[in-house]
Amino acid sequence: MLTLGPKGTNDIMPGEIEKWHYIEDIIRKICHEYGYSEIRTPIFEHTELFHRGVGDTTDVVEKEMYTFEDKGKRSISLRPENTASAVRAYVEHKLYASPQPVKVYYIGQMFRYANVQAGRYRQFHQFGVEVFGSRDPAVDAEVIAMAMDFYNRLGLKEIELHINSVGCPQCRSAHREELHNYLKPNFDGLCKLCQSRFTRNPMRILDCKEEQCQKFSKDAPTTTDCLCEECAVHFEGVKKLLDSIGISYIVDKRLVRGLDYYTNTAFEIMARDIGAQSSIGGGGRYDGLIEQVGGPPTPGIGYALGMERIITTMERQGISFPKGAQVDVFIATLGEKAKTKAFQLVYNLRGSGLAAEMDLVGKSLKAQMKQANRFECKFTLILGEEELEKGIAVVRDMANGEQAEVPLQEVVQYIAEKL
Ligand SMILES: [Zn+2]
Ligand SMILES: [Zn+2]
Repeated sequence: MLTLGPKGTNDIMPGEIEKWHYIEDIIRKICHEYGYSEIRTPIFEHTELFHRGVGDTTDVVEKEMYTFEDKGKRSISLRPENTASAVRAYVEHKLYASPQPVKVYYIGQMFRYANVQAGRYRQFHQFGVEVFGSRDPAVDAEVIAMAMDFYNRLGLKEIELHINSVGCPQCRSAHREELHNYLKPNFDGLCKLCQSRFTRNPMRILDCKEEQCQKFSKDAPTTTDCLCEECAVHFEGVKKLLDSIGISYIVDKRLVRGLDYYTNTAFEIMARDIGAQSSIGGGGRYDGLIEQVGGPPTPGIGYALGMERIITTMERQGISFPKGAQVDVFIATLGEKAKTKAFQLVYNLRGSGLAAEMDLVGKSLKAQMKQANRFECKFTLILGEEELEKGIAVVRDMANGEQAEVPLQEVVQYIAEKL
């Protein structure tokens, strides 16, 4: 047991981490371009925050949270997502008093005690953004545009953007009533879960995966059919802006986000993945959330994706990742004296910003040369008794095999100039 990590967790090992760095670099760059600043919130929060900010009735909060009592008898939970924490921080630091909108992004671990299956882990990573303080359709369109821009930069192919509007609480109570009237005659035919949703949250019946429910709800009125004037105008505004920058989308009237604080825009991005389509991210507007968590009424919208899912989708689509940074110089040595000299040289090379390595386990010269090849380093330096006596080193340019004898005190400068 001691040599196995807990179920549902992964070590990201050297060789794999370079993919994460590559994607994270793209994230940081694109977030900078779109005006987002990074926020880092704690990995654990008061449990109550997630009850309010994710929703009591969600599976995530009901069944999947890592909740424990700390030594001060407080109920603490590991974060199952990051939006609630970002909202809490926005309120706690009174960012509503600074110029709006406030745009933040995060990358980090999330925790859910769920069944472990392909692509689902108990510790996983999300990248996400939140925008607080504006309900302008331009904000919605910008968040969506950034998400699509990000997938394109990663090189993902066959991506589909699905959008919808779930309206405001007024539209939704109209919708709820129409839905009740429509589904009532077939109540007995719905699955157990949907029967309980009928009063609690009938909108969720529209995206139930059970065949019988899909049959009964196929032509049911959707939120989009019941939008009030203001919400209809908002949705048109978002679509018009997406059109203006050539982002194509599918209006998916069945795309819903069930909780009361979700409003207006909902979106999801799908990618082709081993024959089927799978979600590679999504988000939407949550104008009721900040108030729900105890802040002043403030509009907001967010978007998140699972990093593990992105990496596996890229791999399955055959997208290659660039290699991590290379070793610039490897110093191969022969004899104790040469080793001491190499130690100094490596130190000086690193001091001038180069990645330098030398043998640290007493390998033969031949084995050292093999290692230099494995590092795919740009230069190899050979240092033995003879070279030391002459005060030179043999520098080999690994790209073209050219060798030069370089005075020891000029080695650092010589290599720095060549690179
Ligand atoms: Zn409305
Ligand atoms: Zn159902």
